[in-house]
Amino acid sequence: MNLPDFTSFYWLIMLMIIFFVVITGRYFLIAGLFYFIFYVWFPEKWKQRKISQKEYKKGQLKKEIKWSMISAVIFSITGALTVILWQKGHTKIYIEPDAYGWWYLPASLIIFMFLQETYYYWIHRWMHIPSVFKLIHKVHHDSMIASPFTAFSFHPLEATLQAIFLPALFLILPVHYYVIIVLLIIMSFSSVINHLGIEVYPQKSQKNFAKWVIGASHHSLHHKQFKYNYGLYFTFWDIINKTESPGFNPLFKKLTQNKDKITVENF
Ligand SMILES: [Zn+2]
Ligand SMILES: [Zn+2]
Repeated sequence: MNLPDFTSFYWLIMLMIIFFVVITGRYFLIAGLFYFIFYVWFPEKWKQRKISQKEYKKGQLKKEIKWSMISAVIFSITGALTVILWQKGHTKIYIEPDAYGWWYLPASLIIFMFLQETYYYWIHRWMHIPSVFKLIHKVHHDSMIASPFTAFSFHPLEATLQAIFLPALFLILPVHYYVIIVLLIIMSFSSVINHLGIEVYPQKSQKNFAKWVIGASHHSLHHKQFKYNYGLYFTFWDIINKTESPGFNPLFKKLTQNKDKITVENF
């Protein structure tokens, strides 16, 4: 395949524009779809699984979209730079799926998710140190009640901390580009599900899937209580470090009970 020289200034700008269109398209498509399904088209169906009965703050969604657009610019810059680094041969991104064996495709996905989880959990705890919080993380927490649009609503410094980690790993760990695409899709859905404000996982999953994979109830408690539930995809670092909210299991149970008219009072 004959690719253009991405290292030229023209292609740097073009790549940034292409990434920006794809990233914002992905944001509006996924966050928008969840918002319409759960809040506009079928709100009645999900009423008893809605975590907070309070309304969003005035202008919240607009602000979240504004911050998310700034995050998208930062993600586009790191995306474009990653492509250039790849073309210059500085990354371990590979094209032939069997280059490291087929087994390595799922294995590398798990490794990347584990490393990303570990990185995020610890920088997230660091971002909750009061002086750091004010500077870097407050923007995300301005959404006391999260919405699907909170998913990428970060201060530019936080967006940068998030954006640089995977490209940095691509410099040292072999990764097929399919795995990168799958990882980005998982990231997008997980972030929107975690900020949905409605618990979508079934009650049956409380002792298995929902115990280990973060969902809306888990992450909503982080936005409300601040000192618990720092994880990104998984709960294990919170469980190991005893930072999982004691309110999580009761809340999950209450939201997923098969009873009519359940409201979560005092939330
Ligand atoms: Zn936080
Ligand atoms: Zn959040």
